[in-house]
Amino acid sequence: MKNKKKLIVISGPSGVGKGVVIKQLLQDLSCLELAVSATTRPIRSGEVNKKDYYFLTNIAFDEAITNDSFIEYCDVHGNRYGTLKEEVERINSNDKIGLVEIDTQGAKKIKTSFPEILSIFIAPPTLNDLRVRLEQRQTESSEEIQRRVTNAEEELKKIQDYDFVVINDTIQNSRNEIISIITKTFNL
Ligand code: 5GP
Repeated sequence: MKNKKKLIVISGPSGVGKGVVIKQLLQDLSCLELAVSATTRPIRSGEVNKKDYYFLTNIAFDEAITNDSFIEYCDVHGNRYGTLKEEVERINSNDKIGLVEIDTQGAKKIKTSFPEILSIFIAPPTLNDLRVRLEQRQTESSEEIQRRVTNAEEELKKIQDYDFVVINDTIQNSRNEIISIITKTFNL
């Protein structure tokens, strides 16, 4: 894969557990490094600039677009998000594989421009499982849960755009399955 981007794109509905799976993968595979995205969304309490995201003003984001700094960028829930070329190049130059969590539109764009990039969709066993998980989290109102389940239904229609779909029945199974996919894809 010389001169090609070594990047893994992970998507999945809100509440599916992708954050936990990604954390686990980063712990278990030392060859992976999180590629920090840029966004125009306001920083949330507890987040750290350049660690969670590169928090950019709209003007700075526009400049980055003009400078061709993005592998892809998209509007997600009214804010802009983009995967930075420089971030992935830095990771690859350290002989590591980048890992980024992006939405389904971004994943489609990436696969169109860079087919070598590995894309994985993490899906819930059923939509009802997703609803139950979101309810158990007790962090969203019932309207918000409904909105996320409806969004998930739309996202699940995009799974054909991905190289692999992993059903997150348990975190451990998803982790094992994804490690096996990564190992085979990158000949580790
Ligand atoms: P949040 O603001 O809650 O961290 O993320 C909101 C959404 O933005 C999530 O669906 C996440 O996958 C998506 N996202 C984060 N980074 C990127 C990126 O670089 N590109 C795209 N297209 N989506 C992103």
